[in-house]
Amino acid sequence: MGLMRAVFDMAFRPGMQRMKPQGPGWPVRLFHIDTGGCGGCGMELQALSCAPFDMQGAGFGFVHSPRNADMLVVTGPLTRAMAPVVQAAWEAMPAPRGLVCVGACALDGGMFGENYAVMGGLERRVSIDLAIPGCPPTPMDVLDGLRSLFRPPVPAPDTQGGVAAGGADGAGG
Ligand code: SF4
Repeated sequence: MGLMRAVFDMAFRPGMQRMKPQGPGWPVRLFHIDTGGCGGCGMELQALSCAPFDMQGAGFGFVHSPRNADMLVVTGPLTRAMAPVVQAAWEAMPAPRGLVCVGACALDGGMFGENYAVMGGLERRVSIDLAIPGCPPTPMDVLDGLRSLFRPPVPAPDTQGGVAAGGADGAGG
């Protein structure tokens, strides 16, 4: 996994925000790999792509090739058999690219832990751009997580204490 750690980059978030404005017409393309697990998280992702959730209206869609993808979405614990597949998919994606882990298994191995066949979750191994916990997370949890990538940064809390540098906010009257 050393090579995989070296390959994953941390430049996704700022690069993505620059290049992928939010909203229809700028779909963020997701490529999903299920690396093991029970398949529950994968089923929730399939549900997400159904009409009630309007995933495309929110600016996201699944693609069938990592070469066309902006973000790699991993579900399930990383098995030794699937580690080379994940790495190959990541290397095939154009930059900027991001990594999303959906579900407890993808994050820390979940109920599968680590053993001769399972390497556990990705959070200890690589830089993750978005972690969506749950077992499994609901489709709305996943969509809310994806949307959070493109929310404007939260302003610094310098106005709460009333001692904001630069002072005047025009609220007086
Ligand atoms: S997090 Fe839960 S639902 Fe998702 S793959 Fe693991 S065991 Fe299954």
